[in-house]
Amino acid sequence: MNIETKLAQIGVGKDSKTGAVNFPIYQSTAYRHPTLGESTGFDYTRTANPTRQVLEEAIAKIEGGDGGFACASGMAAIQTLMGLFSQGDHLIVSLDLYGGTYRLFEQVYSRYGLSFSYVDLREPALMRDAIRPETKGVLIETPTNPLMQVTDIAAIAEIAKQHKLLTIVDNTFMTPFYQRPLELGADLVFHSATKYLGGHNDVLAGLIVTKGQELTEKVAFLHNSFGAVLGPQDSWLLIRGMKTLAVRMERHQENALKIARFLKTRAEVTDVFYPGLEEHEGYAIQRKQASGFSGMVSFRVRNASQVPVLLKHLQIISFAESLGGVESLCTYPSMQTHADIPVEVREQVGVCDRLLRFSVGIEHADDLIADLTQALEASCRSSNE
Ligand SMILES: *Cc1c(COP(=O)(O)O)cnc(C)c1O
Repeated sequence: MNIETKLAQIGVGKDSKTGAVNFPIYQSTAYRHPTLGESTGFDYTRTANPTRQVLEEAIAKIEGGDGGFACASGMAAIQTLMGLFSQGDHLIVSLDLYGGTYRLFEQVYSRYGLSFSYVDLREPALMRDAIRPETKGVLIETPTNPLMQVTDIAAIAEIAKQHKLLTIVDNTFMTPFYQRPLELGADLVFHSATKYLGGHNDVLAGLIVTKGQELTEKVAFLHNSFGAVLGPQDSWLLIRGMKTLAVRMERHQENALKIARFLKTRAEVTDVFYPGLEEHEGYAIQRKQASGFSGMVSFRVRNASQVPVLLKHLQIISFAESLGGVESLCTYPSMQTHADIPVEVREQVGVCDRLLRFSVGIEHADDLIADLTQALEASCRSSNE
């Protein structure tokens, strides 16, 4: 079955009693046991909930994995996965990284005796150099947030296997519609489903998908033990969003390519980062491991002084955090998503104060380009004054 069909059909036919096409929201936290030692399969909603289960089975199937787990947020998903590691363990992590992941590792898990090395995983040899006797896992973000650097998932997973490390991929930016890391050798995938999977800037959620029975059982235990699970109403909202993922992603990508090409022509812009541009350094790997490029475009303006004027003049595009929704959003990483990364680290990576990140929505591309044009022109007038 094709992915478009799997997505549109989530939950259909699963409520056999009523035949409801849209799977209902089971709000009950408790479930009557038929008799001692028997269960309907549902006992207590933290462990399993029928609405959440439809979502979990769907994401597992769509990512090509064995187990799916819905969490209260993307951060809750990462936290649940971190339960796989113990005091003294070391992980290798993408150097350019979502700021919240960096904050969780450096300000929380480092206090629990875990350590992290941030490595430019575009160079698999650098990963080999970073492996220590206590290294237990590698966490890949690709393309990275916000610089859109592309990592060869199969190459990293191969090195990880040789050293018995778990390969974990944050697949938020691509979604399984374009990229399925488990098919490339990864062991675990997670999402901030708040972004493209939800798709409407209206639900906070995280998803995990596991490969193999052993990992599935371990994560099921952690998911229930931590309890950072997704509620039934939000599970329903996420299912509703995921049904249209395929058509949304196609439009996001079509618009993003037009925006990236447009930005390349502008004198106010010095750099454009979009893996769908043939001149992007990760283009060939992206073509090899994914069927598309998604809808995230980052760019640098000429002067940092242009940034406040540009953001103020945007009319259709909202200056707001987050990404992946139908509405276009523009973010300023150095002061928003990546503010908790020390300045030296940020600047070394390239997340400077001239960088903007654009989550291209599904509006008409011409309207987005017109909005950007007038905001870029205004930003240049003011910086020339
Ligand atoms: C937003 C985001 C997260 C965190 O997810 P939340 O749903 O906000 O908790 C993790 N990784 C990436 C790449 C993100 O964009």
